[in-house]
Amino acid sequence: MDIELSAEDLAFRDEVRGFFRDNAYKPGADYNQWRLDWFAKAREKGGWDVPKWPTEFGGPGWTPTQHYIWEQETAVANLPWDLPFGIGMLAPVLMAYGNAEQQERFLPDIRARKVNWCQGYSEPGAGSDLASLKTKAVLSDDGSHYTVNGTKIWTTMAHIADWIFCLTRTDDSGKKQEGITFLLFPMKQEGIEVKPIITLGGAHSVNTVFITDVKVPVENRIGEEGKGWTYAKGLLQHERTGLAGISRSIIALEKLKEQARTVKRGNATLLDDPGFRAKVAELEVDLMAAEYTELRSLASASAGAAPGPESSILKLKGTEIQQRIQKLTVEAGGIYSAAWGGKPVGPSFARGGMAGYLASRAYTIYGGASEVQKDVIAKNVLGIKSSK
Ligand SMILES: Cc1cc2nc3c(=O)[nH]c(=O)nc-3n(C[C@H](O)[C@H](O)[C@H](O)COP(=O)(O)OP(=O)(O)OC[C@H]3O[C@@H](n4cnc5c(N)ncnc54)[C@H](O)[C@@H]3O)c2cc1C
Repeated sequence: MDIELSAEDLAFRDEVRGFFRDNAYKPGADYNQWRLDWFAKAREKGGWDVPKWPTEFGGPGWTPTQHYIWEQETAVANLPWDLPFGIGMLAPVLMAYGNAEQQERFLPDIRARKVNWCQGYSEPGAGSDLASLKTKAVLSDDGSHYTVNGTKIWTTMAHIADWIFCLTRTDDSGKKQEGITFLLFPMKQEGIEVKPIITLGGAHSVNTVFITDVKVPVENRIGEEGKGWTYAKGLLQHERTGLAGISRSIIALEKLKEQARTVKRGNATLLDDPGFRAKVAELEVDLMAAEYTELRSLASASAGAAPGPESSILKLKGTEIQQRIQKLTVEAGGIYSAAWGGKPVGPSFARGGMAGYLASRAYTIYGGASEVQKDVIAKNVLGIKSSK
């Protein structure tokens, strides 16, 4: 998509590129120190460490075009490793529903990337139907703390997380959406056991978390008891917007085309093959439409609005596009994509192709499965009423 950039926008883009260049990681340096320094310097630029935060909490207050430029540039730059759970998910909840003391206590460490958070929503019996969750939190007689018991599953990065934001049940007498309470507690304490789950692509990122008699002070409850569902839903919309990965897909698609140009098909290349070409063209069109949707969402976010149900459109289309790119990468790499470890064989881009493809199956499951996004779009975007 070509978006008209003004002279100021072009100057901003050069400034962003200059910042990435000047603060790039130097091989041999202490990675973690570089990472923390990078975010500190980005902060000095006026909130570049928290681009999506509102200005009253230190965000840069960029225009939609500046956000767009940032997204584009970050997709190609080698940025420090970052997790979305604190910065992109819990922080907006704290800003909207946390009290001043909680904001002061948690936001600075989230911003400085000193504390890693994980998301304790899903349970063995509660995924799409999240409101059925059963992890129990019982308030003590003196009202000072909750005792939490239950199991969370698919908890990404729980094995390195310092804290968890956790949905718990404090009442099961009424509607299942009522009686859910949003609690925060440290992961490294007695009563918390983390067991790894190795997924289809061979990686360890998700875990099962067993919680036994963990005491959580009431000061660690966000908002009111029993109102956690409202806070949890707001967080999911932030999560979904973040998962679309549109800028990354734009770069990945360009890369795929370059790769396909290096694969021979008779006297021509794979990219000249009409069948392959048609799939790439279809992807390009869908990606452009998703890009416009993202731009609309950025425009309303920079006008101060929280992401709405359009985040479901982005999540649905963005993750499908990522999967289609992975699939075509495997197609371009052919049999060499299946190579896993051992000696390199075939073109270098093909290596790990199948592992990436298998890992990408999860994109349309986490953050809310595609079928569930379609339900949200039908109900809240298209206004279609359920026949049930
Ligand atoms: C890699 C990965 C990382 C994750 N990370 C986290 C994390 O950090 N924290 C966390 O809390 N959770 C996490 N999850 C969990 C994720 O949010 C759930 O897997 C997801 O919500 C689906 O729930 P489920 O697995 O229980 O499947 P189910 O809800 O049992 O769904 C099974 C199938 O039924 C379909 N289905 C369900 N309900 C409907 C319906 N109403 N209409 C039509 N079809 C339906 C689904 O689309 C799916 O195809 C992660 C999952 C994965 C795979």
